[in-house]
Amino acid sequence: MSTNTVNATQAHAESMFDAVLARLDVAAKLMNLSEEVLQVLRNPSKQVKVSLPIMMDNGKIQVFEGYRTVHSTHLGPSKGGIRYAMDVNADEVMALAAWMSFKCAVANLPYGGAKGGIKCDPRAMSVGELERLSRAYAVSMKDIFGVNRDIPAPDMGTSGREMAWILDEFNKINGEDSPGVITGKPIAIGGSLGRDAATGRGVMVNTLAALKKMNLKANEVTCIVQGFGNVGSHAARLLSEKGIKIVGIGDHTASFYNEKGIDIQAALDFAAKNNRVLKGFTGATEIKSSELLTSKCDVLVPAALQNVITEENAGKIQAKLIVEGANGPTAPEADAILNDKKIICVPDILANSGGVTVSYFEWVQNKAGYYWTEEEVNTKHDLKMEIAFEAVWNNATQFKTGMRIAAYITALQKIEQGVKLKGAY
Ligand code: NAD
Repeated sequence: MSTNTVNATQAHAESMFDAVLARLDVAAKLMNLSEEVLQVLRNPSKQVKVSLPIMMDNGKIQVFEGYRTVHSTHLGPSKGGIRYAMDVNADEVMALAAWMSFKCAVANLPYGGAKGGIKCDPRAMSVGELERLSRAYAVSMKDIFGVNRDIPAPDMGTSGREMAWILDEFNKINGEDSPGVITGKPIAIGGSLGRDAATGRGVMVNTLAALKKMNLKANEVTCIVQGFGNVGSHAARLLSEKGIKIVGIGDHTASFYNEKGIDIQAALDFAAKNNRVLKGFTGATEIKSSELLTSKCDVLVPAALQNVITEENAGKIQAKLIVEGANGPTAPEADAILNDKKIICVPDILANSGGVTVSYFEWVQNKAGYYWTEEEVNTKHDLKMEIAFEAVWNNATQFKTGMRIAAYITALQKIEQGVKLKGAY
């Protein structure tokens, strides 16, 4: 089981995109993917970099770097978020775009993959500056974005507010209302019910599916969730509603452990009144942040940052199951260690695909001009997640590999058909 993962991790990852390629190559070899298809997928199909001069509140012009990478469009229009952060760069955007191709394919969505971003510190900018920057970005990407071309969504540092500005600018340029050009919108302008909790909900569905395979019952297991933002807080709430005892939670301000179980509603109420952070929560013992991931539990849900499970701490992890709420929380070097310890890892491209799945539902509703109830959204979401989990689990068994490489294989089996059927010049 571990051999394939070891190969994946031995390829030294010099960049985020190299880490994607290392795993892609291992999956491709194992499933015997044709060399031509592999070459197509090793190269993003389109990369755009723009300069955005913005008039700042102090009357001076500041130039920002904006990016959009379309990795593939073989299964449909490309889909992927827009990130506002200081570490946005071409390599990171390329890696995240490729991940979106694989994530959409694993989740059985008719999409390729893309990602965009602006190198900026949104917390250091005024609302007016952010609005001008978002509108300038929308104008610069007018020929990339399109309802049936490339469909962005929020990512780190952006939310429904930025999506609304970008949609408005796109609509002005085109002279018509096209809500389906962007997802993650506020409900009032065409967003979908259930989108907010969707990624956490997908983590919950994947956790329950994995526990079933492991012959474990929800009410017999304990869980630690790192991150208490969109993904982590909804995942912790939904997992606890299913009877799983949440013994550890943490965010960038503090981490907590209580072997008797943490009252998640109390933690949510506390965070809601405390600027959305956990510092000062009294429902559990505060522990060092570095101890959270390695504390005793059956299920570990990293739902905050990338590269938090590393060569250094992977050997100390006590969980039997890891469900990756965040993108890229496990460094490639840690994969082999987890595999040797027989820890099952539901990888990011499967575990957190609930968000893009409900984004897809939002796009479908926008195209139809007909809106579903939250219950309809959740029922359709859960079914799609269960099907995706089963396909990856079956490939892990068939190809005698871990779930990460199996998820890549599941995606590649679909994308390969798209590449071959659409052909080339
Ligand atoms: P968020 O900004 O809402 O929350 C992030 C959380 O991580 C916060 O609680 C923050 O305090 C915590 N955090 C930050 N630094 C930390 C640290 N050093 N130690 C512990 N906790 C820390 O972000 P989110 O939307 O919940 O995204 C979390 C992860 O999930 C990211 O990797 C993101 O790419 C991924 N993801 C999000 C979605 C989505 O729909 N929101 C979908 C797919 C993947």
